[in-house]
Amino acid sequence: MNKNYKNKLITFNALIEALEQIPTIGKKSALKMAYTLGVDNKFLGIKIAHCLEEAIAHIRTCEVCNALSESQLCDICSDEHRLNGQLCIVLHPRDIFILEENTNYEGRYFVLNSVENFNPYSLRENIQNNHINEIIFAFSPTLANEAIMLFIEDKLSDLNLSFSKIAQGIPTGIGLDNVDSLSLSRALQSRTKL
Ligand SMILES: [Zn+2]
Repeated sequence: MNKNYKNKLITFNALIEALEQIPTIGKKSALKMAYTLGVDNKFLGIKIAHCLEEAIAHIRTCEVCNALSESQLCDICSDEHRLNGQLCIVLHPRDIFILEENTNYEGRYFVLNSVENFNPYSLRENIQNNHINEIIFAFSPTLANEAIMLFIEDKLSDLNLSFSKIAQGIPTGIGLDNVDSLSLSRALQSRTKL
């Protein structure tokens, strides 16, 4: 019996191995996906390959707020109507999608990405150029995040800003993407002063 059969399918196996590297995709799902994209629905496979290439070539980050953007400035930073003095600081670009979808927030954003790469100068520039007077932290309440808020507040302490954080309804230790939209909307409205 030829036990080597599957190993000889070199490109098929390479596809499975690549798909397995996507977070939350296990071996079984990777095999199913490889079969769908490489065998059953080749048209979808080519379409996804093309979309990936295009997206990777065009998606970048906004030079002002670090949000995902396909041009130098994102849509929010180029919208004068969103200059209301509020700046919401989030940890990850995807948090902006969640807040935009689930709340009536009308100010600007700043994406922190990581504390290690945090650049206080680009944040200060954003605050000064956009006449920001209130900073709203939209972080889930963990000890680490509390420390980040204090750190940033300290870095901006000379700018005469008011600081608040989203509050009620946000459970400890989970990402914003796991909070339901009503809770998130309430949390933003009933933000507490720091
Ligand atoms: Zn922007």
